[in-house]
Amino acid sequence: MPWRLLLDKMPKVYFSENINKIIEKIDFSKLGETVAIKVHFGEKGCRTYINPEIVKKVYDKVTGLGKKAVLAECNVLYRGSRTNLKDHLETAKKHGFDFAEIDILDGDIGEKFLGVNVGGISKSARLGKGIERYDSMIVLTHFKGHMASGYGGAFKNIGVGLASRAGKLHIHSNVSPFINVEKCKGCGVCIENCKNNAIKLINNKSEIDREKCTRCAVCIAVCPEKAVRIPWGNSTSEELCKKIVDYSYGIVKSVPNIVYINVLENITEECDCMGIEQEKIVPDIGILLSSDIVLIDKASLDLVNKKSNGKFNEINSVDKNLQIDYAFLREMGEKEYEFIDLDKE
Ligand code: SF4
Ligand code: SF4
Repeated sequence: MPWRLLLDKMPKVYFSENINKIIEKIDFSKLGETVAIKVHFGEKGCRTYINPEIVKKVYDKVTGLGKKAVLAECNVLYRGSRTNLKDHLETAKKHGFDFAEIDILDGDIGEKFLGVNVGGISKSARLGKGIERYDSMIVLTHFKGHMASGYGGAFKNIGVGLASRAGKLHIHSNVSPFINVEKCKGCGVCIENCKNNAIKLINNKSEIDREKCTRCAVCIAVCPEKAVRIPWGNSTSEELCKKIVDYSYGIVKSVPNIVYINVLENITEECDCMGIEQEKIVPDIGILLSSDIVLIDKASLDLVNKKSNGKFNEINSVDKNLQIDYAFLREMGEKEYEFIDLDKE
């Protein structure tokens, strides 16, 4: 299986409090020449996103070996500081990710996507099109809680993070966006940007034709009044988690070599997409490495639950095993692992 190639054939998870020891365990000779380092830069107002110094150490190592490396991400679905390319780059730089080229894979407003057959309940995934530019990936994830998917780990980082805006809409909902007529000013910007001619003005308010709408999510990004609404909650938590895994499957299928690093520090109840300051809910633990996406999230959950005396499991009502169990069924990785503590060697 391609996602196991970068370490060894045995399902192992490496642990250290020191990123340098983790980096030493990666066999970079098995990475290709174009490496996307997947990072979530944190929404404006968030202070607990992944430490840029950890990301820089990984970036410096890859580029020091003569390989091309970028920090890769896609635009978010909701209206915030990372909705379009310009704002996204600005937020990333303000948050300390100013040492590397950043590649926003789904274009200026999330309009560029790559359709990939993934099976599962999603059938096909709409990934950020720029994923085609890379033959390898290092998935660097800040592990934390998440109200809709239970927790945010490696699956969420690539399954949602590398979905294009259309893909993110697909993951979160099975229906088209809708218009808040109270907010709509009838400016027509959404109509100009809808390539499917699916919006028209009626009595100076826009209306979406659900038959024509392909759920590309562009109108959500361009409306100056934030009048185009996302139908959140249209997928159950179980559907959401399965779609996250299906989209992760699409990434694993599309990129030949992937290695996963989960950072178990500044663990908060909610995601880094929340533009608020959050308190840690678990003492810092360290950093995990694996070439198996199921293992990295399973080992992270095991450690976080142990450190919090099981309290992490209770932070929201979503079953924390949904993503892992479904991915295991999809044969994306293993659940049993050998834990190697590099700080005790
Ligand atoms: S862009 Fe927004 S405000 Fe303008 S017509 Fe469309 S929904 Fe209404
Ligand atoms: S989501 Fe639908 S209505 Fe909005 S721009 Fe895309 S196709 Fe048009």
